[in-house]
Amino acid sequence: MSSRKLVIAIDGPAASGKSTTAGLVAERLGYLHVDTGAMYRAIALKVLRERIGMEEKERIEALMPTTHVALKLRNGALRVFLDGEDVTDAIRTPHVSKAVSPVSGYHEVRRAMVREQRLLGAEGGIVMDGRDIGTVVFPDADLKFFMVAGIEARARRRQEELAAKGTVLPLDAVLIDMRERDARDTGRAEAPLLRADDAIDVDTSAMTIEQQVRLVLDTVSKKLQESEAQ
Ligand code: C5P
Repeated sequence: MSSRKLVIAIDGPAASGKSTTAGLVAERLGYLHVDTGAMYRAIALKVLRERIGMEEKERIEALMPTTHVALKLRNGALRVFLDGEDVTDAIRTPHVSKAVSPVSGYHEVRRAMVREQRLLGAEGGIVMDGRDIGTVVFPDADLKFFMVAGIEARARRRQEELAAKGTVLPLDAVLIDMRERDARDTGRAEAPLLRADDAIDVDTSAMTIEQQVRLVLDTVSKKLQESEAQ
């Protein structure tokens, strides 16, 4: 494959398969995987720990200059660090999932995270997943994917993920939370979930992870061949 290192953006709603796909694609290409949802989740965790209310915009924004979020690869797995502490598991609770959407809607929170994300991708060789990667963070990304899946399929996936970590919830409860988060992420004023005009649509409802990874890798190969032929 070519030595050119691409910027690959994968956006989509919760549990659409973007992060798992992004991680595997990055591994196979030898690229860096940046799960931007994990970065926002780390901030939400800090807000909860500091006992700040979700509506306290000023206090939340004031945390940003002294808050440090980092993503590091450890033994092949992406770990999330908040002010030096490994919070990879702590950010996956339903509590954090509920808090993250309002917290990530604040301007200063986004400004800090987007700055960090752009630095991480400055040299290319990156697969970044989130809600606004192809529209705001890297509008000039080499490849953009927009992953969707039916809400039932997504809720079932999330329910399984939570169960694997010891949190057993009825499907209805997961569905309600997911609908609420979808509505917040899509309806908010600051960086709403939006499909970039030039994104490739992928409906993962009936796809396996391997099929999703294949689709992205095949598109990457084509892109690299095209750029070599130019
Ligand atoms: O991807 P994940 O579901 O873990 O993201 C958690 C939340 O973080 C989303 O529901 C959204 O509110 C926020 N987020 C965001 N912008 C991104 C990635 C995630 O606002 N680029």
